[in-house]
Amino acid sequence: MKPYILVVEDEAPLVTLLRYNLEEAGFEVDDARDGEDALISVRERRPDLIVLDWMLPAVSGIEVCRQLRRRRETRDVPVIMLTAKSEEADRIRGLDSGADDYLTKPFSPKELVARIRAVMRRTRPAVSAENLKFADIEMDLAAHKVTRAGKATHLGPTEFRLLRHFMEHPGRVFSREQLLDSVWGHDVYVEPRTVDVHIRRLRKALDVGPAPDVIRTVRSAGYAMELQ
Ligand code: CA
Repeated sequence: MKPYILVVEDEAPLVTLLRYNLEEAGFEVDDARDGEDALISVRERRPDLIVLDWMLPAVSGIEVCRQLRRRRETRDVPVIMLTAKSEEADRIRGLDSGADDYLTKPFSPKELVARIRAVMRRTRPAVSAENLKFADIEMDLAAHKVTRAGKATHLGPTEFRLLRHFMEHPGRVFSREQLLDSVWGHDVYVEPRTVDVHIRRLRKALDVGPAPDVIRTVRSAGYAMELQ
């Protein structure tokens, strides 16, 4: 599962920019446009991290952060505070309110992604330390990166989920229907043949130099990941 990030910011263009970049970096993103909205959203679904603007209409970011820290259920949700204020005193006030990190505007989305990963590593090791390994294939689930024999390989989102499913169950044979259920989800209608298309793409992406094919086609049964 992708880490879920709530962006709390009232400037629409900045929200769009952040959403785009965070989704690109492999996060699931939702946004809230003011403090009250943010507190409601957090109660409905607990984010893995909150990017919180200081200057918000009605309830300020600082106040939102304080309220989050006061509640037991949200006390340990990591918060990165965004602000136009760069003075040391403000920085300290921001961190005092319970923020885990602090980013002064303007900043690059890249910088924000790096800070998010750093905060997650620090506060939620289970989310970011997840790596899967099979033979010479490595998956960094948090960074959404795959390497084979040390070389980066680029997978589409479906291929990524497929590979993850195989790597979590090496050696097990899955029928097309089972793969559709686990990788595409129960309520999505997709032709079983679609699975073959994505398996082909996955094989192609993993075809690095002399590395052997690790996906075995099991006649009339489905597919399995194994060294052949
Ligand atoms: Ca703002």
